[in-house]
Amino acid sequence: MINLYSDTQTLPTRAMIDAIGRAELGDDVLGEDPTVRALEERTAELTGMEAGLLVASGTQGNLVSFMAHGGAGDEVFIDANAHAYFYECGSLCSVAGYVPNVIAAQNGFMTADELEAHLRPANVHFPVSKLLWLENTHNRLGGIVLSQERKKELLAVARRHELKVHIDGARIWNASVALNMPVSQLCEGADSIQVCLSKGLSCPVGSLVCGSKEFIDKARRMRKRLGGGMRQAGVIAACGLVALRPEWIARLEEDHLRAKRLAALLSGIEGVVVDSDAVETNMVFTDFSAWKRNSADILADFLAHGLKASPASPTRIRFVTHRHISDEDIENAAKTVLKVSKI
Ligand SMILES: *Cc1c(COP(=O)(O)O)cnc(C)c1O
Repeated sequence: MINLYSDTQTLPTRAMIDAIGRAELGDDVLGEDPTVRALEERTAELTGMEAGLLVASGTQGNLVSFMAHGGAGDEVFIDANAHAYFYECGSLCSVAGYVPNVIAAQNGFMTADELEAHLRPANVHFPVSKLLWLENTHNRLGGIVLSQERKKELLAVARRHELKVHIDGARIWNASVALNMPVSQLCEGADSIQVCLSKGLSCPVGSLVCGSKEFIDKARRMRKRLGGGMRQAGVIAACGLVALRPEWIARLEEDHLRAKRLAALLSGIEGVVVDSDAVETNMVFTDFSAWKRNSADILADFLAHGLKASPASPTRIRFVTHRHISDEDIENAAKTVLKVSKI
């Protein structure tokens, strides 16, 4: 099976499993797990923030961030394709109580003008404008990277309107590799970030939220409220410390090169439309409209031929590269798509 479903399919390495066995543990709800503390400090350092907090998942990290920045009746400016809006069970509303002001960005990332057009002066009729939500890399937009220029323009608007800024950085590592820039630079000017360990970095579980010390104190309380206080969580953190070694982050470059190769191969197949320019990291989004078949049916045929990918819409399919995918797998995946195209 060639599994291009997601980079979440990666398994922990031997070094991670060994690190679990050696980890010093304690009760993290009381702040007594030294391995968790080390990971939180390391992640804070990498993101250039004051403090970090280990959480169970990216979804939980985003949710505690919403809750630590505000609550019921507060407004978040968020693009229509944001993971937190699209894929997190509506928890920004159903749990955190936010009113989403959804920006249907016309061309990739929202622009400063698109954001500005959604802002209004404070008025008793309106929810309280609180938060600007960014995502880097952007999952549903194809794993594309938020440029520093665009980020600065958006931050300037946010500051003018006294909004806090959160980055959903589930794959900020990929952005950092693609731009050849430290993660801390990508976080400059933001108030908080959520980062995932369990995607391309191959940890079995875990994400972190980073921000100011005051923000993380609040986030810690919100994590507890959500039942996310974990006791000997050093078993999770031990893997994270292995994953955050510079050479492990740097290897994501291989995934990016393979995604580009896959995009090139797929765009040569009849009826497959690939926006190759949008392949900036480890994702390839493809449009199969010309095949006049539903993506679920196409995916079932792929699966029958040993290829797994994921649906992005009734006509679009997403392929994600990760460390279990070799150069040969990429060639074979494209051959499978070609074979299915002829069915
Ligand atoms: C995967 C992902 C998340 C959520 O992470 P989980 O650990 O699956 O809850 C959040 N944001 C983005 C952009 C993601 O890709």
